[in-house]
Amino acid sequence: MTVRENTISIIGAGISGIFCALTLAKSKECKNTTIRVYEHKDRVGGRAHAIKVNDHYVDLGAGRFSSGLHHNVKEQVKLLDLAYEKFPFTQLKRPQALHKSLKSILKNLKPLCDEHPHDSFEEFLTIYVGRIQAREMINALGYDSLALPNITPHIAYDIIEKHPEIQGFSDNAGYEWFNLKEGFSALTEKLYEQALAHGVEFHFGHELISLEADTTAPSLILKKDNQQTVVIDEGEMILTFPPTAMKKLDCGFPQDWSNYTYGSIPLFKGFLFYDTPWWQELDLADHVVIANSPMRKLYFKDNRYVFFYTDSEYANFWRDATLKGEAHYLQTVKELMAEALKCHVSQLPDPNNHTYKHWVHGVEFSQESCPNHPETLEHKQSHIISASDAYTSHCGWMEGGIMAGTSAANTLLARIKQSQVKAVTKSELEHV
Ligand SMILES: Cc1cc2nc3c(=O)[nH]c(=O)nc-3n(C[C@H](O)[C@H](O)[C@H](O)COP(=O)(O)OP(=O)(O)OC[C@H]3O[C@@H](n4cnc5c(N)ncnc54)[C@H](O)[C@@H]3O)c2cc1C
Repeated sequence: MTVRENTISIIGAGISGIFCALTLAKSKECKNTTIRVYEHKDRVGGRAHAIKVNDHYVDLGAGRFSSGLHHNVKEQVKLLDLAYEKFPFTQLKRPQALHKSLKSILKNLKPLCDEHPHDSFEEFLTIYVGRIQAREMINALGYDSLALPNITPHIAYDIIEKHPEIQGFSDNAGYEWFNLKEGFSALTEKLYEQALAHGVEFHFGHELISLEADTTAPSLILKKDNQQTVVIDEGEMILTFPPTAMKKLDCGFPQDWSNYTYGSIPLFKGFLFYDTPWWQELDLADHVVIANSPMRKLYFKDNRYVFFYTDSEYANFWRDATLKGEAHYLQTVKELMAEALKCHVSQLPDPNNHTYKHWVHGVEFSQESCPNHPETLEHKQSHIISASDAYTSHCGWMEGGIMAGTSAANTLLARIKQSQVKAVTKSELEHV
């Protein structure tokens, strides 16, 4: 395999792409190398995307991290001196009847997971508590992905233990969570600035549209601003976007890259802003309500705003509601919020502003969810590197993005070092 040292092209400027670029730019092996990042959109951050509404930053995508689980994110937040605050939504209000016994039921069933390595979580629960209660338990947990057929009991327990709203039903009840005061975009923007300072070039409005990988001399074809074609056919190439975007490229993904298969689920977040924080009187500030309705998880952010967050089928329910027009969407929000709070719809005020975001492929993951999945993939012939949070043990988290970016950079650095050793040995032999 030849190593093409002088340019490195990274496609995707999400956390994994920026982190990969920065790691390479800081390395001694790349000091004479041009590192270019090409990004489809006109901004960095990918699924970390904060906007400002009514003077409040809101995270349309990634929104919280745990100091106990996400060590790389925590480290970057400290190093970059980013302002953060407690993400307080670990306490449920207005509990459903089942919430009282959920922790002990889950605790009793946990030792039985090993006996059901291939069953879905829902099948597993059904065996022990019956179909109706199994369904009710999943509803009471607020994350509908727990009902997906490929979510085994072990994965389900991992999800419950690692999500702030429901960690209270596990032994992780004490984990602390935080959000960035200016949203998660503050992290990717600071890393972007650092990368620029280290000489990394960023090219926005560049979409990779095809990829010739079945060769040892691969090429990438990008469209610039939907018009001009840019061809990259030299240097090292790293793709830092998720599996669904890889599949669009007709590059033999996943079979020519991986022994695994990949899936994704949609996510939806809706934010509502009001003239007065009416929820404070109801003692809901800084609490989350899990509703047995399409609203699913309803959060009351101190005196600032209210938001709800859904996944899987209910994410698409809300996308469909928005497609029927703003009035229909807001009326649906109001009715379901009233139902979740057990009050009459006329008791709730109308918001003075709102925003929402439906993510078609919000979370991406390996269907087999195998702990041995490599953190980066390499195409079997071209050795182009593919990196995504979806390949890591922290899939669906910014932590996984940092891990993927670091791993992609280290894979390439190892390759460069190996080729430098070979070059030195060859020249020494020639002088003997
Ligand atoms: C609603 C939501 C909530 C989330 N909540 C959290 C949370 O609370 N905490 C947390 O830690 N994580 C959360 N995440 C997950 C987190 O956002 C991701 O794990 C992380 O952003 C993944 O980073 P990435 O760089 O691997 O991929 P991405 O962020 O997807 O970045 C990929 C980049 O590649 C670009 N790209 C794609 N295809 C092409 C192409 N063909 N050509 C050029 N460019 C391309 C994209 O535009 C994008 O900028 C959430 C995600 C969503 C959607």
